[in-house]
Amino acid sequence: MVKTVALSQSVTQLKGVGAKVAERLSKLDITAVQDLLFHLPLRYQDRTRLLPMGSLRAQQEVLVEGTVRLSQIKMGRRRSLLCHIDDGTGSLVLRFFHFSNSQLSQLAEGTLIRCFGEVRSGPSSLEMVHPEYQVLSADKIVAVEAELTPIYPTTDGLHQLSFRKLIDQALACLDNDSLPELLSDAVRLHPVADYSLVEALRFVHRPPPDVNVQQLLERQHPTQRRLAYEELLAQQISMRQVRATMQHHAAPILKGDTSQRQALLKALPFPLTKAQQRVVKEILTDISQDIPMQRLVQGDVGSGKTVVAAMAVIEAVSAGYQAVMMAPTELLAEQHLQTFKLWLEPLGVTVGWCAGKQTANQRREVLAALSAGEIRVAVGTHALFQDEVVFNNLGLVVIDEQHRFGVHQRLALRDKGRGANSYPHQLVMTATPIPRTLAMTAYADLNVSVIDELPPGRTPVTTVVVPDSRRGDIVERVHLACREKRQVYWVCTLIEESEHLQCQAAEDAATELQDALPDLKVALVHGRMKSAEKELVMQKFKAGEIDLLVATTVIEVGVDVPNASLMIIENAERLGLAQLHQLRGRVGRGTVQSHCVLMYHSPLSKNGQARLSCLRDTNDGFVIAQRDLELRGPGELLGTRQTGLPQFRVANLETDQDLLEVMSDAADQFLHVTPHHADALIQRWFGQKLELGHV
Ligand code: ADP
Ligand code: MG
Repeated sequence: MVKTVALSQSVTQLKGVGAKVAERLSKLDITAVQDLLFHLPLRYQDRTRLLPMGSLRAQQEVLVEGTVRLSQIKMGRRRSLLCHIDDGTGSLVLRFFHFSNSQLSQLAEGTLIRCFGEVRSGPSSLEMVHPEYQVLSADKIVAVEAELTPIYPTTDGLHQLSFRKLIDQALACLDNDSLPELLSDAVRLHPVADYSLVEALRFVHRPPPDVNVQQLLERQHPTQRRLAYEELLAQQISMRQVRATMQHHAAPILKGDTSQRQALLKALPFPLTKAQQRVVKEILTDISQDIPMQRLVQGDVGSGKTVVAAMAVIEAVSAGYQAVMMAPTELLAEQHLQTFKLWLEPLGVTVGWCAGKQTANQRREVLAALSAGEIRVAVGTHALFQDEVVFNNLGLVVIDEQHRFGVHQRLALRDKGRGANSYPHQLVMTATPIPRTLAMTAYADLNVSVIDELPPGRTPVTTVVVPDSRRGDIVERVHLACREKRQVYWVCTLIEESEHLQCQAAEDAATELQDALPDLKVALVHGRMKSAEKELVMQKFKAGEIDLLVATTVIEVGVDVPNASLMIIENAERLGLAQLHQLRGRVGRGTVQSHCVLMYHSPLSKNGQARLSCLRDTNDGFVIAQRDLELRGPGELLGTRQTGLPQFRVANLETDQDLLEVMSDAADQFLHVTPHHADALIQRWFGQKLELGHV
């Protein structure tokens, strides 16, 4: 008997969903049946055709069939079972690290097997590690799958197979009545929007056998793009709602007396650039209004965002309010603390520190002083988000290097300063230059100011790309630079999941460099050191007491030591362009000619070559951002971490640029023609996950 379930009902109405499964599903933000429909396949496996082994390439996920020629246990570093198979066109090695004796006999010479797995290049030939496999008998034909197999993002204890069954049940409840179309004709500004939602959903969950497989795998099928269109629209509209909601709130009018600002300007060792002046003016205009400012300042590394923030901060303080400045890393926050103390304390402003690694006593004191209003400016990390942090009268929130924080955190901090019906003004700053269409997507809730000019007297950094086989020469170059009283960064990179390994690599490099260069003062800074230790090292480096600073990518953001004029980046090919550009921004801050050496490990892929040459050829962050988009491999989404852009289910910010182009108009139309559908649209795509519309 088929039970009819409404899409709005709980997933527990479905067969096979008890309390336990429901809980697992809720981890994926799936609570209603409808949420299952919007839980889209991450990718597809193609088990519909057998590929000839002669045609295989590494990284392909394929189905192959062949005869076992040899199975043997190999000792080596890890005991493994190697099974050589071939199909007449080529051969392949299956490698098992875990295996049983019965498996050994099952895979005896002459056996015909079919396997599915990812092809990798092994020590001597192409391999599959732990493939799924099935032994075939020569006299019985086993059909391949008729359809592509969708693979869903899942969580522990929920297998793909069970997932597919749940989706099947949800699809059975899906029709035009149960899931109404929300895009009116006026909103369909791109041909892909002509598909109906129901049609598109059915298609991507259960692609028919005759589908254009390649298109689907690359997320370029029109039905996928139709969904992307709606997803991008939902995102755009939710951001617009945030913005509109904020405009209904009140904010303190921050209009101080100009003498404080003048005093700060006088004390600075430099005049502001034209661009800085313009942006300061935009900010001051915003915060003198009684609605909360929501402004993003974009400015390339070294463009001088800190002083712009300080101008806003002093304005808030002289108007009688508190201000906070938050940075993504402790290292950067500490540096801001010092700068702010230097600039603001002479003006009689108390600056306080709030970070994770404080003693309980220190913390208690800071918290008390903050809530009593004795500290006028707080500088810190995300520790400023915590519930126990209470401000006396917060008027301005500044978030530096915003791309490291999510939208949620940004909103959370703003909520902190919320009075009865008033919000603090918010200024977010980023050095990540992103192309205009993307900026409109990511920052639809913000006004944008751009500092499009570097302070005068900077000589652009010269960049060279060299293989690590020339390490000896490079070490010599480090030596020379230090003998000329310049300072040097040596940055160690590693695959980023492992902070531990990265620190290890930096420790090793520091030891090795100190051995090679005994007359230099070498020091180390990495993410696992205590903050006091890190701070000490940075202070010494700043004071010129350290010649060579070996570091992990913790120094990526914000560190400012103008005498450092040489940077070596090891394994540069492992980092994204944006990150490399950020790192390189640590040099070229003074007036001397600075250099950056991008060291790579051969062989360098074509794409790797193109990326490193792009950095060699330009210092312009916007050009680099554009190239970065072009050079990313298909399917590789722009990471949230790199850009602060939201992560989408189907939309691909790189290949869906043409959709982004029309999104602003589409949102206008949607809100004009069908404003009453806005909540339903947002709910369907973001569910409880994104309560942006309601802050
Ligand atoms: P970023 O935009 O990367 O955060 P910073 O605010 O750290 O840049 O500024 C980089 C360096 O430039 C700092 O040493 C700062 O003191 C200096 N600086 C900022 N503005 C000017 C200016 N108008 N003229 C000269 N130097 C400046
Ligand atoms: Mg900065």
